[in-house]
Parts: sequence; structure tokens; C-alpha cells
Amino acid sequence: MSRIVQKFGGTSLADVDRIKKVAQRVRLEVDAGNEVAVVVSAMAGVTNQLVDWTRQSSLVHDAREYDVVVSSGEQVTAGLLALALQDLGVDARSWLGWQIPLRTDGAHGKARIEHIDVTGLRNRLARGQVGVVAGFQGIGPRGRITTLGRGGSDTSAVALAAALRADRCDIFTDVDGVYTSDPRIVAKARKLSRITYEEMLEMASQGAKVLETRSVELAMNHRVRVHVRSSFTDAAGTLLVDEDEIVEQQVVSGIAYSRDEAKITVQKVADRPGVAAAIFGPLADNAINVDMIVQSASEDGQTADLTFTVAQMDLDRAVSVLEQSRAELGYAALKPDSNVVKISVIGVGMRSHAGVAKQMFQTLADKGINIQVISTSEIKVSVLIAAEYTELALRALHTAYGLDAAG
Ligand code: ADP
Ligand code: ASP
Ligand code: MG
Repeated sequence: MSRIVQKFGGTSLADVDRIKKVAQRVRLEVDAGNEVAVVVSAMAGVTNQLVDWTRQSSLVHDAREYDVVVSSGEQVTAGLLALALQDLGVDARSWLGWQIPLRTDGAHGKARIEHIDVTGLRNRLARGQVGVVAGFQGIGPRGRITTLGRGGSDTSAVALAAALRADRCDIFTDVDGVYTSDPRIVAKARKLSRITYEEMLEMASQGAKVLETRSVELAMNHRVRVHVRSSFTDAAGTLLVDEDEIVEQQVVSGIAYSRDEAKITVQKVADRPGVAAAIFGPLADNAINVDMIVQSASEDGQTADLTFTVAQMDLDRAVSVLEQSRAELGYAALKPDSNVVKISVIGVGMRSHAGVAKQMFQTLADKGINIQVISTSEIKVSVLIAAEYTELALRALHTAYGLDAAG
């Protein structure tokens, strides 16, 4: 007997027929004698609709009320799946975040999980009842509903698996595993049977949304056996593993992209000590994260141009923060640009192999793609390019690193 957490994404729960199929899938594990907790997302598209309604209703963004609204999609699917299971003769009940309780901090809209008291849930599982848990939601320090940030039901699932000390956490989604690149864009992408926690963490944080970043962080820290697989087929999926469990390590394991970037160039700022601090200080004070940075000397030799990226949704705020300190910074102009994409190549093999970055730059140059900003870490190289080249760059790099599927 095993204790299993299964998570189903929005496409797998898109309508009542699919929810019934999911119920059958859950029953297989119950019939095999396992204890099963299921974490659900909202039906595909529902959370977007809910977010949109909050925007239409009010210009004032009260994040506590936003959370009340956007968390509701998961309440619906949790109840429906519990009903569908009962219909199959499976004992099941739904659990909302506050009922478990899954406690978070008070950062509404992007709350972090602090503690999950699984006593009640575990007792029910031990009695053979399936627990259907609404993903993406928790309860904050003041007793209000919180949400974990978009894509957060992956995090609910992995956190629950860790708290329950589950033997496995199966993430059922609309692809049959983690691929070398987004299979929707790179037709030749290959499914990876295994990927290291560390690489998956980079893939996720660089934009591969198949798993949410925090879920991978949690899986890595708690050594949760995460298996990413399809809800529509029985194909073996992708297992998250430690580095020593990988038999044949490629230098580059995957290529991710993020359209969530925006670029700002601050032109002609004085080239003297303290300027970078004067620019990035106010951004940090306003909780705006800066990702890539490059500084270049401008033509007059007295000043420099500073280019950096922020999340797309922070662009307007970042521009207004910098405009407010214009007198103090004394720059010539601000150039915002949201027509950019960040492409990242990732692989633990980079630690021991030189030349990965060079190959990236050469491949993009051969396609006539200009690189605007570069950043690197131990196991990844990222570049910022114009958004219209996304597909071309991904496919060319995929071929260049020998990742294309045979045939
Ligand atoms: P769910 O609703 O099940 O949480 P998501 O839409 O959040 O599903 O994540 C699955 C999607 O992630 C896939 O449909 C795919 O387009 C995208 N994706 C991006 N990069 C990858 C990758 N490297 N491997 C697999 N899927 C990826
Ligand atoms: N329903 C939420 C979202 O769309 C959470 C999730 O699906 O993981 O972001
Ligand atoms: Mg998702």
C-alpha cells in the first residue's frame, strides 16, 4: 500500500465528462489499495475569467477580495470531483484550503505556504476516504482566503505530498511529461524520462510552465518523488530525480522561454559610483524584481546606458518609479520595450563543459537574431531577443544542441 498525491490541471478537468474520467483514474489507485489525496485546479480558462472579472469590477486592487474571487474555481472542481467519485462508489470528500488547514503568509495573490496540518486529512485517508483538495488556495494569518500565485496548484500538491510523507506525487497535465522544450512550439522536442530537480527548477523559473517554480523548489527540498504525466494516456511520464540517478547526462537538457519579460534602457546616466544603486534601490523599495542587467558605455564616454529587465506586469510601475527620480539620476531618456522574450538553455552538464554559451550566440547570429542582454548562472545561459524570433530561436537552438527527436 502506498500513499499517493495526484494533481490534475485545468485541461484535465475542463468539463464534467473529463471530471468523470479523472474520477475513474483516481479509482484505479483506490482499488489498488492505496491512500489517495487528489489536488485539483480550476477548469481550464476559469481562473483567467475570474481574474478578468475582478479587474472589471474595481480599479482599486484589494488583493484580499481578489483572492476570494480567483480561488473559487478550485472549490467548484473539488466538489464536482468528490461527487463523481461518490457516483463510482468511492468514498470521497472535498477539502478547501481553510478546512485542512493549509496555512500561508498574508501575501495575498502570491502567498507562501507556512504550515499544513494534515492530521484530519490523514485520518480520513487512513479510513479509505479519498480527499479531494482544492489547489491554489490557503488561509492567511488573519483568517482570510489566500491564493498561491498563478499555476499554484502544483505547489499545493507537492507541499501536501511532503506534509503527508506521500510515496509519490503524480502531476497529471495535458502533455505526457517534461520535454526538452515546449512541445507546442518545438515539434521536435523530446520527452525526458528523467530530469534533475535542479534543472527542472531552472526550466520552471525560466518560463517552462509545465511545473510551477515553487513546487519544484519544495520537491527538491523535501525530496518528493514527482512524476509528471498525461491525464489522457497511460504513457510513462517524467520523473524528477537527483543528479546521480541520471544515467546519460546531456550537456544541455532543455530550452525554456519566457514572454513575461520587459526591457528598460536608461540612456546616458552619469558613469560614476553609486549610480546603479540609485537606480535599482527605488525599484527594490517598490518590490520590483530586476532580472537581467547590462551596462554599456555611451558614445560620449562620460555617461553609460543601463539596460535591464523586469516582469511584464511591473513595467509601467518601474517606468514611473524611475521617472520620479529623474532629477536625481539625471539620465537623458527612458526606453521601455515589452516586445522581448528571454530564451534560456539549461543543463547541469554545463558545469563541466565549456562552449555552451558560445554555441548559443553563434546559432542565433547565424539566424540573424540580435542578442540584447545576456545573463548566466552555473547551469544556464539566458539571452533577451526580440519577441518575433521566439519560435525561430527555440527551434534553431534545439537542433544545435542535438536535442531533436529522431525521425
Ligand atoms: P496544467 O493546467 O495541467 O497545470 P499547464 O498549462 O500549467 O498545465 O502546463 C502544461 C503546459 O506547459 C503544456 O501544455 C506545454 O505547452 C507547456 N510547457 C512549456 N514548456 C514545457 C516543457 N519543457 N515540457 C512540457 N511542457 C511544457
Ligand atoms: N487555477 C489556478 C491558475 O490557473 C491554479 C492552477 O491551475 O495551478 O493559475
Ligand atoms: Mg499548471
